[in-house]
Amino acid sequence: MGRIHQLPMSVVNRIAAGEVVERPASVVKELLENALDAAPTRIDVALEQGGIGLVRVVDDGGGIEAGDLPLAVTAHATSKLRVAEDLERIGTLGFRGEALASIGEVSRLVIRSRTPDGTGATITVDGGKVGEVMPDGCAVGTTIEVHQLFGNVPARRAFLRAAQTEWSHASEAFVRTALAHPGVAFSLSHSSSSADKGRRVHDLPATQAWRTRIADLFGPALGDRLIEVEADDGEVSVHGFVGRPEDDMASTRLQHLFVGGRPFRDRSILHAVQEAYRGLLLSGRQPIVFLSFDLPPDAVDVNVHPAKMEVRFREPSRLYRLVLASLRSRFLAGNVTTRLEPPRIEAPPIQARLPEFAAFAPRATPWESAVPRPADSAAVPVPAPAWERDELRQEVVADERAVQMHDRYIVVESADGIEVIDQHALHERLLYEKFKASVEAGGLEVQPLLVPERLDLDPAALELVEEHAGTLQRAGMRVEPFGGSTVIVTSKPALAGDAPASELVREVLDRLAATSAAGGGAGMLVDEVLHGLACRAAIKAGNRLSQAEVDALVRDRRIVRESHHCPHGRPTSLTLSRQDLDRQFRRT
Ligand code: ADP
Ligand code: MG
Repeated sequence: MGRIHQLPMSVVNRIAAGEVVERPASVVKELLENALDAAPTRIDVALEQGGIGLVRVVDDGGGIEAGDLPLAVTAHATSKLRVAEDLERIGTLGFRGEALASIGEVSRLVIRSRTPDGTGATITVDGGKVGEVMPDGCAVGTTIEVHQLFGNVPARRAFLRAAQTEWSHASEAFVRTALAHPGVAFSLSHSSSSADKGRRVHDLPATQAWRTRIADLFGPALGDRLIEVEADDGEVSVHGFVGRPEDDMASTRLQHLFVGGRPFRDRSILHAVQEAYRGLLLSGRQPIVFLSFDLPPDAVDVNVHPAKMEVRFREPSRLYRLVLASLRSRFLAGNVTTRLEPPRIEAPPIQARLPEFAAFAPRATPWESAVPRPADSAAVPVPAPAWERDELRQEVVADERAVQMHDRYIVVESADGIEVIDQHALHERLLYEKFKASVEAGGLEVQPLLVPERLDLDPAALELVEEHAGTLQRAGMRVEPFGGSTVIVTSKPALAGDAPASELVREVLDRLAATSAAGGGAGMLVDEVLHGLACRAAIKAGNRLSQAEVDALVRDRRIVRESHHCPHGRPTSLTLSRQDLDRQFRRT
């Protein structure tokens, strides 16, 4: 007797469920795809407990015939393709015939549906057990409810994160899908339990204009500022919107790619985008990108990933070139500038902008006149002859000479060589250490705003403000609802100097979104807030500093050196040792 046997269907489904259904967000995605394939005019989504308790998707599409209901929940049963060749030209979002069977295996799945000329019916699948088809007086279209996801699979249930984390993944799945289908109206509501009435988080009317859908999701301010791009190489075309360089983000949250109404991930295309922005963004910053590709069905394979998150292109390099060329030419034509360019006018002295510097009275710098300012000359000070220098060394080192170069680097002579400091990176680290120390000591100085700043937020950001108001306040930012999608900022941390409070809040929300999506705990969230504040409040590359400011930065660098926090972001300095220099000049 052999030891190999055919697995029962329930086990096959359970295995497939592992691939298709990872968390509530995967359920949202699959149900939305099914609804869209039924050609609806609107889709309403309701979640309880981030989707762990319930995911409900209601559409007014073509419905399922009562007699087909048992098949709809059977694995490898689909209305979307018949023969293998159909796989070469998939025109629907679904085609694997697996989602409902998989979901029914690991939850209690209830379907109610009615076609325009049939009668309504319902079917329930409870942990893989398929019930009878019963008549139901529902409207035309389909309502699908998924209750207690993984309720019958404790091992999987244990892998789900807090409701808040699942919610942020699930709403992200909703946003991606709604972005891809502006012609369909969508809504999303969320409640913390079945007792709670819940809140409508998104309400998106149908529109022909993609920009309008983007603005409805992320706020009118963003929508208005996007740059439209469009290009066609004869076979592949791309259309969409990208952000101005100064609207850069800390995360990739606003980078969305679509092909044939399907969101997808693709590192190569995002790399082309990065290339196009090269020199326009500070390193580590992310551009805003919404791009939709159109290509012949046989030039793209969507059947390469169980959850269909990735697709394969026949000629990936073609898309790469198209994206790079279309963005570059748009940037050139549109005269897009960047804040990385040194400002034409002399920046105001930093003491005025950053109170932390005010503490340091400008120090007399004996060598100041001897050291040419970078604006005067590109020359580096001529070092004293070696015999003199050796004698003087102790003293010079104690007093470290520092000079700003190109309005962005500070060069310091140190005991054993030369240190080149990135002024923004160092100041950012310094501010972070100071923020951290004062928050930990409970002594963060808060500056109330004389004129509160108004800020328009998208629903997801509003949600974050509500969720994390306490964290924001600990970091000195008081943010209050002001009706509709508007909030007002009434205070900011004094350490942030004159950085606009609204920019600080935006930056911080951006990072909170990424961190809470990654399941970061309270400590991580506070930390991310402090990093965001430091990044926005720090002097930028391109800011001209006075000698006193340069000295203050250089002196404070010990705070960074002595800190035990692990470095975040870019390095702050690089060192050329005297040995290196001697070797380069063949002195040894
Ligand atoms: P697939 O979408 O890959 O075909 P699913 O398991 O997701 O597989 O769905 C099975 C079938 O159920 C679909 O082929 C479709 O005929 C039907 N169906 C599912 N959801 C809906 C819906 N919202 N409206 C109409 N038909 C649906
Ligand atoms: Mg499907």
